[in-house]
Amino acid sequence: MPRHRLLRSALHGLLLQAAQDAGVTVALGSEVVSAHPEGTLILADGTRLSADLAVAADSVGSVIPDRLGIGGTVRRYDDGIIRRLADRRDLGPGWDKTLDIWLLGKSRLRALYSPCSPSQCYLCLMSAVSDDIGARIPLETDYWTDAFPMLAGVIRNGQDNARYDRYGRIDRVSWSKGRVAIVGDAAHAMPSSLGRSASAGLLTAVRLAEAVEEHGRIEDALAEWERTNRPDIEQVQAKATHVALARSLSRSEIPDFGKIEHEIQN
Ligand SMILES: Cc1cc2nc3c(=O)[nH]c(=O)nc-3n(C[C@H](O)[C@H](O)[C@H](O)COP(=O)(O)OP(=O)(O)OC[C@H]3O[C@@H](n4cnc5c(N)ncnc54)[C@H](O)[C@@H]3O)c2cc1C
Repeated sequence: MPRHRLLRSALHGLLLQAAQDAGVTVALGSEVVSAHPEGTLILADGTRLSADLAVAADSVGSVIPDRLGIGGTVRRYDDGIIRRLADRRDLGPGWDKTLDIWLLGKSRLRALYSPCSPSQCYLCLMSAVSDDIGARIPLETDYWTDAFPMLAGVIRNGQDNARYDRYGRIDRVSWSKGRVAIVGDAAHAMPSSLGRSASAGLLTAVRLAEAVEEHGRIEDALAEWERTNRPDIEQVQAKATHVALARSLSRSEIPDFGKIEHEIQN
């Protein structure tokens, strides 16, 4: 199956343009510290913003569901990933394809190389949380280049803003309260094993807009939105979790890649 990647900055640029064209004002650095069910957000500087519908899309560290009293389960798993972009222009021909390399010896590591523009590639370096060196930031370049010498050029040539994100999953008791909707990872984070969590968030956000357009009362729209979208999202979460646990680097057995690939396809 062909895979295509695009830079997040390109996607963000398109979304920003569309939002501004629709009359949205973007106020960077506006930290939300609390929310009220009547559709009010409270910022760190004390500003109160009220709307017909407030949308919380503040990701896995989201404070808003807790402030609203929306409980849920937050799970953390035993693997994590360092993601970074690197300059790939020195690699030469033959590097226009995605490579997914697993090292399953004494060290258990994974490197995913994927070109995402003529000059840049995406590098995903995976290790168990218990691997003190593999999970270390800033990146231990000697450790990673010893493991994946064929990628040494791009490992050494990467941007320095790398971070290690641990696999996790969030299941909320509800995706909304009153006039506040919880969207994206804040509502339904999942391991990145299928590469589908961002699209799940985008999809539910579009469906939220459609539901609000369709229903007169915001509360009705939110209830219908969750009822019709949640089962599909939970299915993707379950599959992503299953694949993440089956391939886990922190397990002592070698994953059955053929079986897992079959499960991903079906
Ligand atoms: C290692 C890894 C690999 C991944 N790979 C993929 C992949 O290949 N494909 C895919 O589809 N998904 C992938 N994902 C998942 C994807 O990154 C997320 O699903 C997606 O970014 C979630 O979007 P979001 O808008 O909910 O949150 P985010 O993109 O995290 O955005 C949340 C925003 O809210 C802001 N914020 C946080 N708190 C506050 C606050 N209190 N007040 C105001 N603003 C706040 C943050 O600064 C941030 O800008 C991956 C995730 C990880 C960790």
